[in-house]
Amino acid sequence: MNDVREDWRNLVGGKLVDAVDGGTREILSPATEQPIARVPEATEEDVERSVAAATAALPEWLDTTPAERADLLLRLAALVEDNTDALARTEARNAGKPFQMATDEMQICVDNLRFFAGAARVLEGKAAGEYLRGYTSMLRREPVGVVAQIVPWNYPLMMAVWKIGPAIAAGNTVVLKPAEQTPLTALMLAEFAGDLFPSGVLNVITGDGATTGRALVRHPRVDMIALTGGVDTGREVAAEAGRALKRLHLELGGKAPVVVFDDADLDAVAETVRLMGYWNSGQECGAACRVIAAERVYDALLDKLTPAVASIKWGDPEADGDIEMGPVISREQQERVFGFLERSTGTVLVGGNVDATTKGFFVEPTVLVDVQQSDEVVQREVFGPVVTVQSCGSDAEALAWANDVEYGLAASVWTRDVARAHDVIRRLRFGTVWINDHLPFVSEMPWGGFKQSGHGHDLSAYALEDYTQIKHAMIKFA
Ligand code: NAD
Repeated sequence: MNDVREDWRNLVGGKLVDAVDGGTREILSPATEQPIARVPEATEEDVERSVAAATAALPEWLDTTPAERADLLLRLAALVEDNTDALARTEARNAGKPFQMATDEMQICVDNLRFFAGAARVLEGKAAGEYLRGYTSMLRREPVGVVAQIVPWNYPLMMAVWKIGPAIAAGNTVVLKPAEQTPLTALMLAEFAGDLFPSGVLNVITGDGATTGRALVRHPRVDMIALTGGVDTGREVAAEAGRALKRLHLELGGKAPVVVFDDADLDAVAETVRLMGYWNSGQECGAACRVIAAERVYDALLDKLTPAVASIKWGDPEADGDIEMGPVISREQQERVFGFLERSTGTVLVGGNVDATTKGFFVEPTVLVDVQQSDEVVQREVFGPVVTVQSCGSDAEALAWANDVEYGLAASVWTRDVARAHDVIRRLRFGTVWINDHLPFVSEMPWGGFKQSGHGHDLSAYALEDYTQIKHAMIKFA
């Protein structure tokens, strides 16, 4: 039986508060379908209140030095580190993840906050100088102002930290909206941050996309919108931002190809796809979900991959510590994934369904073959534990298929030939390309999309720059 905690609060203007109208939302465990929490449900009035707090906090916050902001981010990192166990337990329960996976995410959050604390102090720019006789030119990198940050449910705290770290390091104030399904760890972060930051620098309000998210995006005092979410949401948010000509930062969906050349280490490919195709139940924008294998190695790869995927232990991670893969986030998501499988004319080699009497939003780890490049399941992000495998006739065809989707987030290529690897890195239209691995990332290097996967970056100094605007000051001295 789950405990249902009911005293969750939003953070607005340094205070932990209920929604203005007292509204609440029940949060479910996706593994048991049982309620685990009741959180405030923000409406337009809460958006109004939090944007006002973020706006009021700006002048004083603009006076802080990078070292002062770094100190606060380091203290926040320490709070996350000290509370890793509680945060990971909450995340695991709310998102249906194995506890170890959630623990790893907390460690990434700590590293990321520490990285941005350091990065705040080393922003770079062009040298000041006399580019016109009699004038000194210099550059300033200034914060954008009030930033609305909207994050998804797949890595609830990690996506929130990837957003607030660079925004706060650069001197902005923030209103963060976690996903309506998974607000708990962001609210725990709000509890830590309430006493840490000057009031109004970080505000956290929970609510859905259609009401709270939309009101945030539309608010005239919001200077910038940063969204991690699906492509359709990105389009809608971009249209709103376009009308108001607001600064926009979009980290959207993906459909990562795994290009397997005929000289690849097939054991390594099978092992990595087993892990990274089904990581987080496939609810991963960079998931290794679209294998394109050279004809010569296609059968041999399937001989390794099929039993590997069939061996994934799935179920309720809270009930069994050996579980590798939990449920997807909601009934809606489960039905969405099954919809892709029902509409596909491909052949299911492993998985594909789940006993209708099983409690929880589970989908079996699935491998699908005999699919065409134009098929929906190849072209569109499934965001569930489904990997397609295609056989291709040449390197050129593999690259053409890899690039032939609207997404451009991440890709991997498997070959022992260095020259071949360098050539394909250049030709792939994706923001990240891995050679002989899939999904490792680091705080120091950027994460962002090409094409419809968005624009702007999380992670790295480039993310920090995304949350600044450049000002040229020119001083006449002669
Ligand atoms: P989603 O787009 O449905 O929701 C994301 C967030 O946007 C939620 O907080 C939601 O409440 C909010 N939202 C929804 N409609 C809105 C609107 N009209 N205005 C303002 N806010 C709105 O995405 P999801 O289903 O929560 O997450 C899955 C998606 O996120 C996938 O497509 C995945 O690829 C993507 N994602 C991308 C990255 C990346 O780094 N590129 C990382 C994680 C997830």
